[in-house]
Amino acid sequence: MMKQCEKYNKIERDTDYQDEMEILFDAKSENENFARVVAAAFCTRCNPTMEEISDIKTAVSEAVTNCIVHGYAGTTGKVHMHCFLEEHILTIEIKDYGVGIDNVERAMQPMYTSKPELERSGMGFSFMEAFMDELQVISKKNIGTTVIMKKRFCAE
Ligand code: ATP
Ligand code: MG
Repeated sequence: MMKQCEKYNKIERDTDYQDEMEILFDAKSENENFARVVAAAFCTRCNPTMEEISDIKTAVSEAVTNCIVHGYAGTTGKVHMHCFLEEHILTIEIKDYGVGIDNVERAMQPMYTSKPELERSGMGFSFMEAFMDELQVISKKNIGTTVIMKKRFCAE
C-alpha cells in the first residue's frame, strides 16, 4: 500500500498549516460514516456552527462514497483523508488509488453520472461544491483521484 502512496503525485502546498490530521481506511461503506465523524470532530476547535458541521459531513460522505463506488467499483482499496487547519480555513483532501476519471470537467457537471444503472443521480460533486467554499478535483486514469475541499468558518 505504501508503494501505491509513494507513486501518487504529491500535491504542493504553498501555505503553512496550524494543525493536520491524516487517516487511511478501507474503501467500505461502513467507513463513510467513520470518515465524516472524524472530519467533524477535527474541526470542532474552530467552533463550527451546526450548519457548518453538517455541510462538512455531507461533503466528506459524497467524496468517500465516490472513492468506494467509482474509484474502486466494488473492489478493495484504501482511502486517504488528510485535513489541515490554517486560520479559519479547513482543507480536506480525500484520495483514492483507483480507476481515476477520464474527463474531470464532464464528471463535475451537475447530473452527470457514469453509473445511471445504480440509480446514481450525478449530484455528488455539485453537493461538495455547494456545501464547501472551494472544490478541486485532480485525477489520473488508473492512478487515482484526489478531491480537495475548503471550508471557511464564520465564527471563532
Ligand atoms: P451521486 O453522487 O449523485 O450518487 P455520482 O457519484 O455518479 O452520483 P458525482 O459524485 O457527481 O455523481 O460524480 C460524477 C462522476 O464522476 C461519477 O459518475 C464517476 O464517473 C466520476 N467519479 C467521481 N468520483 C470518482 C472517483 N473517486 N473515481 C473515479 N470516478 C469518479
Ligand atoms: Mg457521487
